[in-house]
Amino acid sequence: MIKFAERMNRLGTESAFEVLARARHLESQGRSIIHLEIGQPDFPTPDNICEAACQAMKQGYTGYGPAAGLMEFRQAIADHITKTRGIEVLPNEVVVTPGAKPIIFFTLMALVNAGDEVIYPNPGFPVYESVINFVGAKAISLPLLEEVDFRFRMDDLIDAISDRTRLLILNSPQNPTGGLLTEEDLAAIAQLAKEHDFYILADEIYSGIIYDGQHTSILQFPGMKERTILLDGHSKTYAMTGWRLGYGVAPQPIVEHITRLMINSNSCTCSFTQIAGIEALTGPQDAVIQMVAEFRRRRDAIVEGLNRIEGIHCLKPAGAFYVFPNVTRLPLSCDELADYLLAEAGVAVLSGTAFGKWGDGYLRLSYANSLENIQEALQRIETAVGRL
Ligand code: PMP
Repeated sequence: MIKFAERMNRLGTESAFEVLARARHLESQGRSIIHLEIGQPDFPTPDNICEAACQAMKQGYTGYGPAAGLMEFRQAIADHITKTRGIEVLPNEVVVTPGAKPIIFFTLMALVNAGDEVIYPNPGFPVYESVINFVGAKAISLPLLEEVDFRFRMDDLIDAISDRTRLLILNSPQNPTGGLLTEEDLAAIAQLAKEHDFYILADEIYSGIIYDGQHTSILQFPGMKERTILLDGHSKTYAMTGWRLGYGVAPQPIVEHITRLMINSNSCTCSFTQIAGIEALTGPQDAVIQMVAEFRRRRDAIVEGLNRIEGIHCLKPAGAFYVFPNVTRLPLSCDELADYLLAEAGVAVLSGTAFGKWGDGYLRLSYANSLENIQEALQRIETAVGRL
């Protein structure tokens, strides 16, 4: 038997990939499965972006580039953040990574010591808790509650803070609930961060996918640029999940440390995808507008359809492409229900507990699938739930 390093016991996983593998296995046996488990846009990457990548490849952007990213891409990101977050950002405050996910890993590696405390949203993206544990820190969960539109109660945050708090992770718009933090929430959080001297990792990967209201970033509050690591990227907004293109915006000394982590792990992010990334940020945005409009139609359809099913209650999320219906009135636990829907109805969904213990009693459905498939899935879920 292989004896693995002890630290591997503390590293978790993302069950979306496991459910996807199970669903694919059923498909290989001839079953019809509707995929509502995986969080990636079902649209192709817009043509102008693909074209820019092809051109870049032909122009020779095929070798190693700078570890922190190509200067022209860092400049385009700095301009984009300055414009969308309303605070001036410089290219040397930007670090490019293969996908946005490494920013979570690198931020924790760079800033958090064993024994420090890190507060993270629960239910939340499972990688947060996993990596907090991996670096030997203490994961302090901050419950997100349906009764406050899947935001958290400020009192719960105040209770979670201690003199060992090093970092607070925020995610808005949020995975898995689609919830959005308000400007008042962010103002109060900014105050607490300054008072108790902790850093913020602001995961804004869904900032481009909002239906009601607009995106507010913690970065824009006075004094927050010095203590915020903003995470964003091209995966969701530009339907580029497989390209692996993301970035962090942080004070320059943090960028330097993350760059050193890049040198030791990836060397650099793929060069021609970065050129395509510039086209994504500076070229026409019509495809993004169309995608968001289509997501909105699907959101409305899935929320209405789920609420029509006896025993299911679903809030209408303001952003991202997930719904997080409450299924506590049904006779199965949410884990059992997710298994049942895959096996009996051929609909792949995730149990709320895949996102932490505060996700118990919920399912997560991704509506990054066609309206037609969503309608069919709703029909199948209704029939299967009716048989319980
Ligand atoms: N943060 C959240 C909340 C996400 O949902 C995801 C993708 N599922 C990521 C970060 C990572 O994005 P990327 O694919 O660019 O690494």
